Amino acid sequence: MARGMVVIDVDRCKGCGLCTHVCPSNILALSSDTLNARGYHPVMVTDAEACTGCAICATICPDVVFTVYRRRREARQTVGA
Ligand code: SF4
Ligand code: SF4
Repeated sequence: MARGMVVIDVDRCKGCGLCTHVCPSNILALSSDTLNARGYHPVMVTDAEACTGCAICATICPDVVFTVYRRRREARQTVGA
């Protein structure tokens, strides 16, 4: 199960590609066959399972395209003494 998840507001994207260069998991790419409402090729996730929820994409995007969710760590179990 992925550690993180991004939701992309496709129509806000201007296809600048900044996020595709900084994602450490290398899972962001500009769509080559779709256009958004503004006429740009929007970003898409190529492998959702590899998202870590690091939020670097959201930090660099000038157009607030990403909402990032991060899975909480499972509570550590303590074995009784
Ligand atoms: S949250 Fe991190 S791993 Fe996930 S798409 Fe954004 S930059 Fe890549
Ligand atoms: S999501 Fe943001 S940084 Fe990435 S291509 Fe679109 S506008 Fe540029």
